[in-house]
Amino acid sequence: MKQHLLPIISNVQVSSRYWHMKIDTTEMNETIEPGQFFHIRCSEGIFPFLRRPFSIYRINKEDDTIEFLYLVKGEGTKDLTRKKPGDTADLLGPLGYGFQLRPECDDILLTARGVGIATLAALAQEAGRKGVRCTAILSARSRDDLLAAETLQDFGAEVHKVTEEEGTSDVDSVESLMRDIINRKNIKALYTCGSRRLSRLNQRLAEEYKLPGEIALEEQMGCAMGACFACVCDLEEDGKQRSVRVCLEGPVFPLEKVVIS
Ligand SMILES: Cc1cc2nc3c(=O)[nH]c(=O)nc-3n(C[C@H](O)[C@H](O)[C@H](O)COP(=O)(O)OP(=O)(O)OC[C@H]3O[C@@H](n4cnc5c(N)ncnc54)[C@H](O)[C@@H]3O)c2cc1C
Repeated sequence: MKQHLLPIISNVQVSSRYWHMKIDTTEMNETIEPGQFFHIRCSEGIFPFLRRPFSIYRINKEDDTIEFLYLVKGEGTKDLTRKKPGDTADLLGPLGYGFQLRPECDDILLTARGVGIATLAALAQEAGRKGVRCTAILSARSRDDLLAAETLQDFGAEVHKVTEEEGTSDVDSVESLMRDIINRKNIKALYTCGSRRLSRLNQRLAEEYKLPGEIALEEQMGCAMGACFACVCDLEEDGKQRSVRVCLEGPVFPLEKVVIS
């Protein structure tokens, strides 16, 4: 695991609850995959003591930058908003295993909720680069939280927005939308992140339509090195359950194996 001290290019508020940070990665010689994350030191002081994990939102190979989209939630993310252009970002990573785009899956469906949208954006970017057709259902409390929609459209994805404020994000509505897209577009793989209800729905539809799928999990993390076991989740394989650490073995797992509590 590598620590990187890199210059922050920008760190701005992009909606009432979300911020966006861009970092210069010229000095970092690492291959970064969509779905991987960095463990970021949010404050200059001792507290909050633990770093916070954030997925990579955009990987810009052409200008050596990466971007993060983050929801301001508690002490760590509040501290992160205080970083200014020219300040140093203290990152550990890239960490974990990212998403796989199988060559035979040329039409994929992404479903994301809340901050899960940030995690799936980099996958849509990679799909665009590889000529994989991508459809995304983005779910949030309000349209104000769906600011990544334009980014995904720029990557070539067809984007469907569902929100609580419009009454379109309940499981039944999303299921109808997913079924329609799977049939109409001949979808070959499902990817999801950000909500237990969406994850269960994806598992159910993947089984019914015999589609492969992947899920990115967002458990609270301590060390992100596999030592503290704060981020354990369960997988079921061949009828047996085993516990895995999201930071080391994940955060991306085969959809059908994850036990969603
Ligand atoms: C792999 C991964 C990728 C992620 N990607 C993104 C992303 O791209 N964008 C985004 O907005 N969010 C992302 N998240 C979620 C993000 O890490 C959390 O929202 C963030 O850590 C919140 O930090 P905070 O200090 O602001 O809030 P917190 O202060 O952490 O508030 C949440 C609560 O959790 C408690 N807590 C914090 N850490 C721990 C711990 N290790 N063990 C037990 N309790 C703890 C706090 O005391 C508090 O009560 C991701 C999470 C994971 C695991």
